[in-house]
Amino acid sequence: MTFKAPPKKSLGQHFLTDRHYIDRIVLAVDPRPGDRLVEIGPGQGAITLPLLRKHGELTAIEFDRDLITPLMEASEGVGRLTIVHKDVLQVDFGKLAGEGKIRLLGNLPYNLSSPILFHALEHAQAIGDMVFMLQKEVVDRMAAGPGSKVYGRLSVMLQAYCEVTPLFVVPPGAFRPPPKVDSAVVRMVPLPAGRVRVADARRFADIVRAAFGQRRKTLRNALSGVCDEAQIVAAGLRPELRAEQVEVDGFIRLANLPPAA
Ligand code: SAM
Repeated sequence: MTFKAPPKKSLGQHFLTDRHYIDRIVLAVDPRPGDRLVEIGPGQGAITLPLLRKHGELTAIEFDRDLITPLMEASEGVGRLTIVHKDVLQVDFGKLAGEGKIRLLGNLPYNLSSPILFHALEHAQAIGDMVFMLQKEVVDRMAAGPGSKVYGRLSVMLQAYCEVTPLFVVPPGAFRPPPKVDSAVVRMVPLPAGRVRVADARRFADIVRAAFGQRRKTLRNALSGVCDEAQIVAAGLRPELRAEQVEVDGFIRLANLPPAA
């Protein structure tokens, strides 16, 4: 197998080369018979090939045309690899899952990490779980709670729909070329439909966006365009609080209130 093209910065290509971290990711995914694994950005197959060896089949979504043929060649005799040559943001995970659920994984292109997370959220009910590698700074934001400096829109949006568990940190030296920052692996498990308490996803997203749009403002001021003070109080929140002090449940209660009269 030959991967001739040099890594493309524009596609966030930092290829994982350290066997220790590859093994830990494979262990974190821990595929079980019948699992439908879908990898985002297989690259040169660092995670793809060990998973194929273990599980026998996998679907990978890769945008870079130059990687497709060498990766298919590398998978020969290892397992059944299906490559979807597309921008992952254009992939309908619901269609990919059909009647069942998929398990998503990937060392994500860091320039697209938030859009990919929000895209996955839109299809959360088609996804059993996700094991992603991202910048550590993003994983810190995803898992943060109220009072933390990095608690924000990403934390609230993800935690309203998923359990978010940071797993381990990966240093720059584990990749070629090395990124400038530490990375981390995180597991996300979408809550079953019955446990999602957000009644109107769009209303919830609007409120969270407004609340954190100007994080130094009080809820009273930051939310003035989307709800009135009486609603903030009815949700059990103090209008003089700032968004970073409000727990995820508080935003859900506020978004679930009936519209103001
Ligand atoms: N999984 C490989 C590894 O761990 O070595 C590669 C990871 S690299 C950080 C990110 C991968 O995502 C690259 O293969 C890149 O070509 C691919 N990628 C970038 N943008 C993409 C997009 N919009 N849709 C699908 N794949 C994309």
